[in-house]
Amino acid sequence: MTQHSYSAEELKQKDQENIWHAMRPHTNQPAMIAEEADGAWITDIDGNQILDGMAGIWCVNAGYGRKAIADAAYEQMLKLPYYPLTQSHVPAIELSEKLNEWLDGEYVYFYSNSGSEANETAFKAVRQYFHQKGEGSRHKFISRYRSYHGNTLATLAATGQPQRKYKYEPLGQGFLHVTPPDSYRCPAEHTPESFSKACADEIEHAVTWELSETVAAVILEPIITGGGILIPHEDYLKRVREICDRHGMLMIVDEVICGFGRTGKPFGFMHYDVQPDIITMAKGITSGYLPLSATAVRKDIYDAFKGTDAHDHFRHVNTFGGNAAACAAAIKNLEIMEEEDLIGRSARLGEQMLQRLTDELSRHPYVGDVRGKGLLAGIEFVKDKQTKEPLAESEVKKVMAACKARGVIIGKTSDTVAGYNNILTLSPPLSLTDDDVNLLVGTLIEEVYNQMP
Ligand code: PLP
Repeated sequence: MTQHSYSAEELKQKDQENIWHAMRPHTNQPAMIAEEADGAWITDIDGNQILDGMAGIWCVNAGYGRKAIADAAYEQMLKLPYYPLTQSHVPAIELSEKLNEWLDGEYVYFYSNSGSEANETAFKAVRQYFHQKGEGSRHKFISRYRSYHGNTLATLAATGQPQRKYKYEPLGQGFLHVTPPDSYRCPAEHTPESFSKACADEIEHAVTWELSETVAAVILEPIITGGGILIPHEDYLKRVREICDRHGMLMIVDEVICGFGRTGKPFGFMHYDVQPDIITMAKGITSGYLPLSATAVRKDIYDAFKGTDAHDHFRHVNTFGGNAAACAAAIKNLEIMEEEDLIGRSARLGEQMLQRLTDELSRHPYVGDVRGKGLLAGIEFVKDKQTKEPLAESEVKKVMAACKARGVIIGKTSDTVAGYNNILTLSPPLSLTDDDVNLLVGTLIEEVYNQMP
């Protein structure tokens, strides 16, 4: 372990005094202070080894301790640490080419630093695009309840989790919400397929009521992740695509979590046979080694920004977006994923993980549903399997805490997901070993039975 000028206790004290933690209620309980990490394992300042079943915040896809990514960033920093993308640099050019290979499409890339900025960029690009096409009345965006799209005033407006929003209102304007296609909770009169159609139809109704000339785009994650791993019926995205086409709207797919192998394909939308107009990505693009995000925009949409009027270009800039070292880290990260077939690994291990969770947990009286794709899974707890009444968050938290006490981090839908903070989540590094996955899943299963006998 690294030697510090402060003891572990002093560091905890100073942390509590000086750091305003994200999404963490103020308590006298010290935060876990991570010190080192390798593969799927973190070591904290007390020397405890912890298996990271959530890959940080769903992002360390290639796993910790990748010297090759650090070397790529280091070499780029020595050569050219930074130059703004008002001009250009080689790593951004090379990364864009690689991303087009991964997307199997023709997109141009606007780079930023976070998923929130990538979505915010998408909203601005879409509004300007319609202005320049002579359809300036199209300014509204449709998203789904339970979704999360970011922390800025516009991306929070797109987010469908009211508890995250109400103390920050008024937010950005022109954001509408519709019912998410929750296959587990589809109403009694529906099958998952008919419910998926009904949910897509709701988008079309909203567009009709709002007047389609005012609606610019739909934004959606292929699978709602933070809102509870809601895997839509296989037809849902295709229906949304058709509705967008029918009404002249764009389809923005938020791949901030689902991208980069998380669901067992390069990008989540690839499970559903659709081609989005705009794709936003962050997190796994560098596996968290450096901050970077991208907004991929179909080339013919970008054409609308090529006019000669002084106001035709995209009037949007950020100082650090597409930082040269971050782009170099991203390229190396993607190369590692290709060389080690981490996407195939996510698909294979994910299937095994889901099978074991289903086999061993489905019979538990409080486990209402087990679902997942690739190394992304959710376990939904209910008081009663018939009524599906959500189990209290405090009960679900007991399982999480018991796993943590055994050195295994499991995630949970946050208390901002109104009424549905009853879902445990798994999203480990895609590079975790077979032993790691057995330990992760085994500990979780044991603690469900221990804590909810
Ligand atoms: N979109 C989705 C689906 C996310 O899960 C997140 C963050 O968790 C974001 C956007 C925002 O990304 P960031 O936290 O990098 O701003």
